[in-house]
Amino acid sequence: MAMKCALSEELPVDEYLITEEPYYVPVGNEVEIFIAAYRNKLPVNLKGPTGCGKTRFMEYMAWKLQRPLITIACHEDLTATDLVGRFLIKGENVEWSDGPLTKAVKSGAICYLDEVVEARKDTIVVIHPLTDDRRIIPIDKLGVIVKAPDEFMLSVSYNPGYQSIVKDMKQSTRQRFVAIEFDYPPAELEKQIVAHETHVDEQTAARLVEIGQSIRNFKHHGLEEGVSTRLLIYAGKLIKEGIEAKEACKIAMSQPITDNQDLQRSIDEIIAAIM
Ligand code: ADP
Repeated sequence: MAMKCALSEELPVDEYLITEEPYYVPVGNEVEIFIAAYRNKLPVNLKGPTGCGKTRFMEYMAWKLQRPLITIACHEDLTATDLVGRFLIKGENVEWSDGPLTKAVKSGAICYLDEVVEARKDTIVVIHPLTDDRRIIPIDKLGVIVKAPDEFMLSVSYNPGYQSIVKDMKQSTRQRFVAIEFDYPPAELEKQIVAHETHVDEQTAARLVEIGQSIRNFKHHGLEEGVSTRLLIYAGKLIKEGIEAKEACKIAMSQPITDNQDLQRSIDEIIAAIM
């Protein structure tokens, strides 16, 4: 069996370029902070609950900085090989195939590891040499070390709400990133976002946000996490399709966020009072 082992010089990263400006409403000075981190080659950790705008922010920043965005959804079966690359059998040949992280390094892309704590710790150590002054990725299987160009940036997201001893970020990883804290946008901005994303009228958007805020107060009463901006948008989209408003809110809010029937009933009461 022939062995063809060349590093792919031409990287098809155009598909990762974001050509149209993504809709993103800045909540604070996160855009300026991200640009400052990018200029200084500092890796960034976006901390915050699910569905509060971290992915949208990354898309916006990649567009603004004109870099391809390679997103990797982390999970516990993700291996270092999945990130770095592997040999693949192609017909008679064995060919090297770059993993998404290597591809991002070589093309000077922004690599975004979503929900980084989901990945095993032995997988995550492959990002360590990319997060300090070395900015390299060793490809052991090829016996080469690739140095990241200045344009390359690594960012990760992390939901502190899901903290557990098994799934927590090691300090040795944690302390390699500057951290930008994300949360649900303030009511006025969230209303604007919900209206923009769903095309519901302003009053409906305002009510959805009010419901969201009231549900978030339940967090201290047994709810694992508040209702996300994403779910408010889902509710708005269902309403726009003609689903009755209270029904839409149940389907998009009280049902998805908890299986506890008492909590669901309490949330439905909030929905009934506001919608
Ligand atoms: P996360 O990555 O934090 O889980 P997303 O970025 O997917 O969440 O956010 C969910 C949705 O909420 C987005 O698709 C977008 O429609 C909306 N959204 C949240 N925050 C903002 C924001 N600041 N500007 C514009 N849209 C936002």
